[in-house]
Amino acid sequence: MKILIIEDEQKTGDYLKQGLSEAGFVADLARDGIDGLHLAMTEDYDLVILDVMLPSIDGWQVLKGIRQIGKQMPALFLTARDQIEDRVKGLELGADDYLIKPFAFSELLARVRTLLKRGKTKESETLQAADLELDLLRRRVIRAGKRIDLTSKEFALLELLLRRQGEVLPRSLIASQVWDMNFDSDSNVIEVAVRRLRAKVDDEFEPKLIRTVRGMGYVLEVSET
Ligand code: CA
Repeated sequence: MKILIIEDEQKTGDYLKQGLSEAGFVADLARDGIDGLHLAMTEDYDLVILDVMLPSIDGWQVLKGIRQIGKQMPALFLTARDQIEDRVKGLELGADDYLIKPFAFSELLARVRTLLKRGKTKESETLQAADLELDLLRRRVIRAGKRIDLTSKEFALLELLLRRQGEVLPRSLIASQVWDMNFDSDSNVIEVAVRRLRAKVDDEFEPKLIRTVRGMGYVLEVSET
């Protein structure tokens, strides 16, 4: 799950990005409205968290721009207490929820999860392949009835592989989606993570689901044979 944060206040922005990353999300941070809108237009996000008061263009205009290009991901506004009357304006523009500053991170996380759940109502909340099941809301993985503990990166990696089952995913794509970084060809971060993930979800089970496609990347599929 990928979240866009648009917040000019440095401390709040850093805190949100770090907190959401630790909670297992990929979080991008834009520090003003123009950068935020640009990211929202060029990347795919499952949710946007945006401050109302931003330099250059404010949160309302950013959201208006996002909706104008047809992006329907849920939007959570961060607003100061004295801007509450702006709620009506925000709702008209298609905001989904509000949080009044200052807020507890646990509260933000609860709202984020609710919005993501609502945003995905048409989509299943679990991803499956053979007897492997990944529960997105409970953040739980089960294979053959057995609970498997994954780190947040392993969970994100497995989620990506399951969402794009049968597709060979290049390392560069995995790097950008799971680690939010550009792929460095000298780095073996992905190989190591895939190996660890396989040890957990494939080693003691049949059929094997995750496969290396030499020179190309990785694929998760239920093979016919
Ligand atoms: Ca601000």
